[in-house]
Amino acid sequence: MDMTFPHFAPGSVWLVGAGPGDPGLLTLLALHALKTADTIVHDALVDPRIVAMARPGAVIEPMGKRGGIASPRQGDINARLLELAAQGLRVLRLKGGDPFVFGRGAEEALALADAGIPFRVVPGVTAGVGGLAYAGIPTTARDCNSSIAFVTGHGQDGEMPAGFDWDGLARGAQVLVFYMALRQLDKVVDRLLAAGRKADEPVAIVSKAATPRQKVLESTLGMIVADLAAHPMEPPAMLVVGGVVALRARLDWWNPG
Ligand code: SAH
Repeated sequence: MDMTFPHFAPGSVWLVGAGPGDPGLLTLLALHALKTADTIVHDALVDPRIVAMARPGAVIEPMGKRGGIASPRQGDINARLLELAAQGLRVLRLKGGDPFVFGRGAEEALALADAGIPFRVVPGVTAGVGGLAYAGIPTTARDCNSSIAFVTGHGQDGEMPAGFDWDGLARGAQVLVFYMALRQLDKVVDRLLAAGRKADEPVAIVSKAATPRQKVLESTLGMIVADLAAHPMEPPAMLVVGGVVALRARLDWWNPG
């Protein structure tokens, strides 16, 4: 390839986004890191086809948090990154989507910065943009919205963040994309309706976006809880609320089968 890549120095950590699924959505820097790293510490969301692109001989360490399933503590992940870098290894910390969108990548970067470990951040395609595109849902469209909010469906303890300003959210952005939304779906929907969003507003749940097992459930804000009960969806999944969902009727371009 006719491109000079930045040096991946021994003893440094690259914090890299792997995108929502499809390996074709990796950046060139992500691919370079996969082909160069000595150790790859990846989270549970990273598509196995991407991990399989690692340099032969690289040590692969699955280490990710996943709601509900026993998973390493964030402090242990941070400590592991520091330990591997201190051994003089080129450490690739590979995360689903974009490392700085709801993936606790900021905490990992802060731990590296505080410890004086050199690091680089490689942004990735976040699920709330690229994953929705694979579901035929544009995040913005001229006649639908001029603002969008990315929201986490639960905070650190698994509950909705305390003191969250639902009225402000409901009024503030026409399109709302909830990450980690499945477990709290009924609460999210109740809060949005109470804050004035309309029951007939189009919504979709997008599961395993940009992977061969992508599934999309279209509904309305008033019906989605019942529809989800009738058509269970698997995590990881997002909830998207807003007029852009209706465009899927014409823009559903991808056949994952
Ligand atoms: N850093 C990631 C998000 C991590 S939080 C990113 O930028 O995409 C984990 C949440 O992301 C999941 O609960 C889900 O809501 C969403 N997510 C990640 N990958 C997804 C995918 N392929 N399909 C649907 N949702 C996904």
